[in-house]
Amino acid sequence: MDERFKQIAKLFQRLPGVGPRQAVRFVLALLDKPDSEIEELGYAISHLKQDISFCNQCFNISDSAVCSVCSNPSRDRTKMLVVEKVTDLDSIEKTGLYKGLYHVLGGAINPLDNVLPDNLRIKHLESRINVLTESVKEVELILAMNPNTPGETTALYLKSQFTDKPNVLITRLGRGLASGSHLEYADESTLKHALEFRK
Ligand SMILES: [Zn+2]
Repeated sequence: MDERFKQIAKLFQRLPGVGPRQAVRFVLALLDKPDSEIEELGYAISHLKQDISFCNQCFNISDSAVCSVCSNPSRDRTKMLVVEKVTDLDSIEKTGLYKGLYHVLGGAINPLDNVLPDNLRIKHLESRINVLTESVKEVELILAMNPNTPGETTALYLKSQFTDKPNVLITRLGRGLASGSHLEYADESTLKHALEFRK
């Protein structure tokens, strides 16, 4: 294989879930595309950060400053479900069962990857909770981290941070989620079950 080809394939391997063979397939598939399509993709990628923005409340992907969930007056403001990533939020939103608010942390605590509490949006979560508890009697903080080591570490940390706060009830997603699995890949009925049986 030519060096340049290998270099381009390596770029694709930086994406999650893309192995060497998949990366080669991507490059070959792109070579079959007309120039205009490749340019369109290249343009979209190079403008990604300018074109796509995040909700300044929950950090969901949003075209406007506040996302469609946060700006919806019918969402239940006594519930705040905390997830690691936007993809987790999407999975839960697709079940149609959850009507509260979200908070996207931006990852999970993992010292091996240099992800510490300060690198996540925990301070921001705290200020949102403080604002909410001013207007409602009790806020349920639903911890929906992945059932793996970084997820568990994050859930324990959040618990320790919020447990003494008045008017905050901390719960976690219930059974059904296999340990070591990822929320974003869980099927809808598993997620529904986990949401219904919070503990
Ligand atoms: Zn939002």
